[in-house]
Amino acid sequence: MRVGAQICGVWLVAVSSVVAAEPVLKRSDVVFMYQAGRPTYEAYGATVLAWGGKPTPQAKADAAEAGVRFFGSVGMVTEFGRYHDRFPQTYEQGLCRDVDGQPVKVPWLTDHQHQGVPFWWCCTQQPQFRQYLRERVIETVRAGADGVHVDDHLGTSGGLWLGICFCDPCVAGFRTHLKSRSADELKQWGIARPDEFNYRDVLRQWQTAGGAAKKRSVQQHPLWSQWCLYQGRTAAAFMRELRELAATTAGRTVPIGANAGLLWPRHLADYQALDLFSAETDHHAAGRRFTDQPLVAYRLAEAVQRPYAATASGGDWAFAKEHQLPGLVRGWVALSYAAGQNFMAPHRQWCYTPEKGTHWYQGPAEKFAPLYRFVRANARWFDGYATYADVAVVLPHRSFVNNPRRWFDLCNQLAAANVSYRLLLAGDELVDHPLTAEALHACPVLLIPERGEFLPADRQLVEMRAGDQQVYAAASEVLANVKPAVQTQADGLVP
Ligand SMILES: [Zn+2]
Repeated sequence: MRVGAQICGVWLVAVSSVVAAEPVLKRSDVVFMYQAGRPTYEAYGATVLAWGGKPTPQAKADAAEAGVRFFGSVGMVTEFGRYHDRFPQTYEQGLCRDVDGQPVKVPWLTDHQHQGVPFWWCCTQQPQFRQYLRERVIETVRAGADGVHVDDHLGTSGGLWLGICFCDPCVAGFRTHLKSRSADELKQWGIARPDEFNYRDVLRQWQTAGGAAKKRSVQQHPLWSQWCLYQGRTAAAFMRELRELAATTAGRTVPIGANAGLLWPRHLADYQALDLFSAETDHHAAGRRFTDQPLVAYRLAEAVQRPYAATASGGDWAFAKEHQLPGLVRGWVALSYAAGQNFMAPHRQWCYTPEKGTHWYQGPAEKFAPLYRFVRANARWFDGYATYADVAVVLPHRSFVNNPRRWFDLCNQLAAANVSYRLLLAGDELVDHPLTAEALHACPVLLIPERGEFLPADRQLVEMRAGDQQVYAAASEVLANVKPAVQTQADGLVP
């Protein structure tokens, strides 16, 4: 047994384990977000460029000479200017529409314009915008990218919280979804003719019927959860299509990464089309102390057997820059590697606040680069290991979507007590990830706090668990009965 590091009062422990397939990221990889020059790559010991932008010949050469694999970037929400240049006369065809037919600005790009036009959110169900994205994938692969990173990978379904999108293709696609539902469900929803159903009209009538005093939000409508399921599945299908397009273009498998921040609900929707997550993750910098919350994202990625290259959120970086907190950032790096994942080298980071908009943080290399060089110099301490779990937490995805906070609190409670946990993800209608008997039986201690949200096959497996396993229903029971393999009460640094 080897001990990782104590971060945030948590011992992260790894035991020897053989990984079946070569992962796209190794635990000892040093991942850059954005392009840099060869000296900078070498200062950090970079091995992968995850959000590489356009693979120009110079950028490709710089990366290749430093031994860096290059993921070119394609953005589903951030490339409005480029999309406008591609379709200057007809760009409006591709815009998302709210229930009133109005376009919607990208909330974190409200300070951006292109030729006087705001950065509108575009719809990944619109044929013209799909054409744009397909062209972008093809040109990125043809330019020599080793892999493709997709930013805002959920496309339209990433904006459900904004009440989008009710353009004609989105409304038409929902009819197909409804036709796949059972007669009982349709009856329950009062839908006699799913092939004629217009959800946009239904919502408008429903809002009008609710009175003008306080307009009901579309998210309150009884069919909204079906709408979310439909939009999420559609996004996943499009990602599968883009993945195949990249492979066909290159004549080989092209690894696909995505900005899938797993602490946000539904970002696992397309995990099967992805090889890695390289994602923004809230680190709650404003608290000025370490948080265990990113560990939940790391464990979720592990649960679906994909690596997670993290960065902090734009708000986190803005705070770290304004208050000059490199020590906090170093802790984020250490937590990530101790958890078996890869915090991306913070040499140049996107910052965002509503007041300042987009700005940038140039991380002090003398503070950060030594950590990454340590990882490279000691790769054998990272590669080929798996999480040792004192307890396996069985997590139904539907329950996570309904109430992420409940699961954050539970996991953080375990982490704060030095209890190392693994997440066993039970899928639902959106995320295809059945539990396995092997995973359930691998850990002698199970925490199953929610039994009402399993699919039938998973529920049956959970009930058939091994007889000698300890099973608890609450984190407090685990804390009272399970002694962690490794524990420390020390508040300070561990030598
Ligand atoms: Zn749409």
